[in-house]
Amino acid sequence: MQLYNKLSSDERSRILDSSNQKRITLSFYKYAKINDPKKFRDELFIFWDSIDVLGRIYIAKEGINAQLSLPEVNLEIFIDHLNSISFLNKVRINIALKHETKSFLKLKIKVRDKIVADGLNDDSFDVTKKGIHLNAKEFNKLMNEKNTIVLDMRNHYESEIGHFKNAFCPDVDTFRDSLDAIEDKLKDHKEDKNLLMYCTGGIRCEKASAYFKHKGFKNVYQLEGGIIEYARQVKNKQLENNFIGKNFVFDERLSERISEDIISNCHQCGAPCDSHTNCQNVNCNLLFLQCDTCKEKYKNCCSTDCVDILIMPEKKKKLLRKGVENKKLFHRHKKVKLNLNI
Ligand SMILES: [Zn+2]
Ligand SMILES: [Zn+2]
Repeated sequence: MQLYNKLSSDERSRILDSSNQKRITLSFYKYAKINDPKKFRDELFIFWDSIDVLGRIYIAKEGINAQLSLPEVNLEIFIDHLNSISFLNKVRINIALKHETKSFLKLKIKVRDKIVADGLNDDSFDVTKKGIHLNAKEFNKLMNEKNTIVLDMRNHYESEIGHFKNAFCPDVDTFRDSLDAIEDKLKDHKEDKNLLMYCTGGIRCEKASAYFKHKGFKNVYQLEGGIIEYARQVKNKQLENNFIGKNFVFDERLSERISEDIISNCHQCGAPCDSHTNCQNVNCNLLFLQCDTCKEKYKNCCSTDCVDILIMPEKKKKLLRKGVENKKLFHRHKKVKLNLNI
């Protein structure tokens, strides 16, 4: 029985290129009690692999968090299968706006301690006491009330390229830090302000809203299905769009454009730019914003140091790696891991 990937990303990429199948990219999550995550993981892998699902899925005793792609022709059988699992029956599925064949190149289903690495102690509060869920139309209405503060629950590298108008976007690298930054900003407004929070697909707000209620905030609301679902509703129901720029997503696409505005700048030359690049020096792999001109000038690298390493002959690289004094050249920058919805 095959329980793991056998194809490399390159092999998969070639197969996807040669097939003409249209693939759908989607995500869903559910907090639920899973007694045997390993067994559940293997069952999912066997079935999903058989219907050509690719993606990144986390399973824990607290639930499941999944981002994946599959051939459109298998969508119905996929949903039927989810509905046959009691806690996933009629689970809300976020379908991406645009579909790229290669949003995922492997099927990775991992058993973890938590489905979101939130840095919180589970016992500290009750996650089921969450905020009030709002759809896109309700969200638009509440964001215009004068007592409302719109809160971006994502990290800086995400909100940098796109966010809701007038949102508070904490300058943080982790979810845990964003909770502290927001609590600090709003500590004197526990009763008089509406906290209106959003994230990529809604999962971070499930925890964050419960956290803030536990901390004594009275009026806590959250965007159901996150920016992904908001963009879909805006498009399908022709609502006013209040999200400017791009939505950062956790697959090979890196982002989905929601509005034509470019709200960020190239980290190298400062020109308007909202395209992420992973530094081409594999030892660096820094995720940063780079415009087309700088892409060419720096050969997709974040710095001249990384360009030097990139163009160095392999033999020299090997010798250099041995030299302690040159270690810093091969030092990995802090890497933004493409962890699911973190
Ligand atoms: Zn540039
Ligand atoms: Zn670099």
